[in-house]
Amino acid sequence: MHNLPKLSEEYIDPNTYPPGVAFMDGQYLTMDKAKISVLDYGFLHSDATYDVVHVWKGAFFRLEDHLNRFFRGMDMLHMSISCDKAQVTEILYNCVALSGLQNSYVEFICTRGTSPDFSRDPRDAINRFIAFAIPFGSVANEKQMQRGLHIAITDIVRIPPPSVDPTIKNYHWLDLVKGLYTAYDQEADTAILLDSNGNIAEGPGFNIFVAKDGLVSTPEFGVLKGITRQSIFDLCKEMQIECVARDITPNELKAADELFITSTAGGVMPVTKINDKPIGLGSVGSLSKRINEAYWQMHGQDKNRMAIDYPTKSEVVDGC
Ligand code: PLP
Repeated sequence: MHNLPKLSEEYIDPNTYPPGVAFMDGQYLTMDKAKISVLDYGFLHSDATYDVVHVWKGAFFRLEDHLNRFFRGMDMLHMSISCDKAQVTEILYNCVALSGLQNSYVEFICTRGTSPDFSRDPRDAINRFIAFAIPFGSVANEKQMQRGLHIAITDIVRIPPPSVDPTIKNYHWLDLVKGLYTAYDQEADTAILLDSNGNIAEGPGFNIFVAKDGLVSTPEFGVLKGITRQSIFDLCKEMQIECVARDITPNELKAADELFITSTAGGVMPVTKINDKPIGLGSVGSLSKRINEAYWQMHGQDKNRMAIDYPTKSEVVDGC
């Protein structure tokens, strides 16, 4: 007779987690306690949308823009949660305040959720809202920020918009992860993927900008409309630098004066090598430096920030 293992009373997680606080199913939890069912379609089918906002020096940056993108994404995916924008704001605020983190990476997610009888019809699933605040993270580490990133232009095509709309922030990352492994094989730090027309698209967690003869450009088609990307448009306007969204070929990237990538996870990050060849002089360009400085200065402007009052004792709030 086969000896059956005993069913565990409680799941003991062998992994370790960063500090931080999560919210799910009406409860605030430390990161090690925030778990979803393996039957959630967010996990089984990548059927989810999400957003990431950062908190810098104790204040959210452009939270409204992130909330708008998130609610639009849910709408387009036929998802709904019982929280409105004000309630989501309160939950994000509480996660950060409870975590005590002055600089934080704050992610909020809506998964398709689970259906009680494992129905295959997505309309039967009960959508689930999750949020968490963990320490601020960046696409580029400190060394890469100093010397500039080394990027590989891969021949991998980003999932085309008629299949998965890239303007809905999503977890369809297998193409991006494939790009990362291709880049590592070439000893590059990260990858750029192409759009379905062979032009430059975006990379794992970032948009890309090219500067040539004083003109700054970024791809328009097949990309997430990054909030940091929008900050660059806004800054360039203020700094009287011409900045446009258009199709960009791989050769244009190779011939750039300067390149930088943008993400909520890291801000404006310089690129100094493409496919092992230096960009410009091979060091971080002056325009990239100026734009980076201006980006972090924007964080001090009242219209962009929502300050967090870190309480010693938190209030109890109703969840959704
Ligand atoms: N493109 C992709 C695929 C991303 O995942 C991200 C951010 O995670 C970005 C671009 C940059 O967007 P944002 O500036 O809003 O962080």
